Amino acid sequence: MSGLFAFHGGLKTARHKTESNRQPIQPSALPKRLVVPLRQHIGAIAKPLVQAGDRVLKGQIIGQPDGYISAAVHAPSSGTVAAVDQRPVPHPSGLPDWCVTIETDGEERWIEREPVAYRTLHSSETRNVLRNAGVVGLGGAAFPSAVKLNLGGRRERLDTLILNGAECEPWITCDDRLMRERAAGIVAGLRIMAHLLDPREVLIGIEDDKPEAIAALTAACAGTGYAVRPVPTRYPSGSVKQLVKLLTGKETPVDGLPVDVGVQCFNVATAHAVHRAIDCGEPVISRIVTVTGRVRRPQNIEALLGTPFADLVAQSGGYRDGVERLIMGGPMMGFALCDDRVPITKAANCILAAGAEELSPERPAMPCIRCGACADVCPADLLPQQLYWHSRAKEFDKAQDYHLFSCIECGCCSYVCPSQIPLVQFYRYAKNEIWAQEKEKQKAELARQRHQARLERLEREKQERDAKLRQKAPARAEVSAEKPSLEAAVARAKATSPAVVEAGAPATSGD
Ligand code: SF4
Ligand code: SF4
Repeated sequence: MSGLFAFHGGLKTARHKTESNRQPIQPSALPKRLVVPLRQHIGAIAKPLVQAGDRVLKGQIIGQPDGYISAAVHAPSSGTVAAVDQRPVPHPSGLPDWCVTIETDGEERWIEREPVAYRTLHSSETRNVLRNAGVVGLGGAAFPSAVKLNLGGRRERLDTLILNGAECEPWITCDDRLMRERAAGIVAGLRIMAHLLDPREVLIGIEDDKPEAIAALTAACAGTGYAVRPVPTRYPSGSVKQLVKLLTGKETPVDGLPVDVGVQCFNVATAHAVHRAIDCGEPVISRIVTVTGRVRRPQNIEALLGTPFADLVAQSGGYRDGVERLIMGGPMMGFALCDDRVPITKAANCILAAGAEELSPERPAMPCIRCGACADVCPADLLPQQLYWHSRAKEFDKAQDYHLFSCIECGCCSYVCPSQIPLVQFYRYAKNEIWAQEKEKQKAELARQRHQARLERLEREKQERDAKLRQKAPARAEVSAEKPSLEAAVARAKATSPAVVEAGAPATSGD
């Protein structure tokens, strides 16, 4: 494959794509209740704009972006708001979060939808439309797209805009089906992104085990100048830094972003969401979800956000025997859920009902034998065994010296470790601890700053009081200078009246 550059490490894994990619995308049945989390993106949680009892239309904004890194949230169907409260959400922490629960009315009544003439708008206005349409990265990261579509003076022009259709994780096929069925919409979204970023070239990376998707996008790109580049099927080719390296040969700095080397990368489903938001006036209220593993009819479903996972499993024929774990995402980078009643969010690309066959068998971890296999496959070129030692020993500074935060948690190291050490779990633990310590430090620093500010205020007030007193002092001195002194009065009295005796006070008449 000409024009491609290899990245370090990676793996050939079992693919398990054909289980779910043979059927066209199915629409989801309308649930009676939709539980819509207000935080479905990286950044600040959206502020609720509705309360219990409010009627809402399909596509109506129900959560307003709060701050620059945030995104709007919308009602996926028409109905009545039943509650705005904390509910279980799909998150590795298992903690509940704020959600808007909507009792659907079955009427699917839309808001007014109007296409946006983006070519007549300033780029900041178009980005604002996308922010208010709730467009975030639909590859799983859920980072607000409006932020990524703003170069913010970092560079005048982008070198390369990459569309990521690699979909390297086993079992997941939602992007494959989207590319096959909606290639024109993806390219329409890509055109809008290119209009905003003005890149010198536009490349679309797709793993070479998706010939139908490659053909569909190649046809849709005809006459645009955009190039479809098949990349070798090797996990994790769809990870951003690895795809940037594969397609451009550029290394993203250890603590940097692709934009630092003139590249920006979006998922194909994100491009499609941009097209829907701009060309159709439709916010993000649904996404394609692969439902696979030990279900009777593995498939891809276009699910309304807020639909319970259990409903999609039921629509896929229900569970087969032997399900041991329910995973959101794939087996390499996904996480296990405790409950299948949690709602679909913008980040939920796959539900994998996994049994022993779908998971690597859980065997007891053995001591590290320093074989180096983990380092051989690490696509981030790290030393996973060192990260493991330091994370395990809670030597977090040392783990950071070995670039813990460059670990993309791809799971390649755990996959090949002959001692079956759950390496990624140690890295996640270390990262969480560091973040918690960092938060504590920030809290302490904030308290110190507040205390310092109070001392400064008290000192300032004291100085102001002293200054006022000093201003009054000369006036008092003048007054006292004008007032006749006791001695002078006595002297004057002596001079005028011999009756006045040396009594220390002038003689008074009558008393
Ligand atoms: S692969 Fe496992 S056993 Fe080998 S060096 Fe890495 S952590 Fe140690
Ligand atoms: S999980 Fe982290 S350390 Fe392990 S191979 Fe992937 S990037 Fe490297």
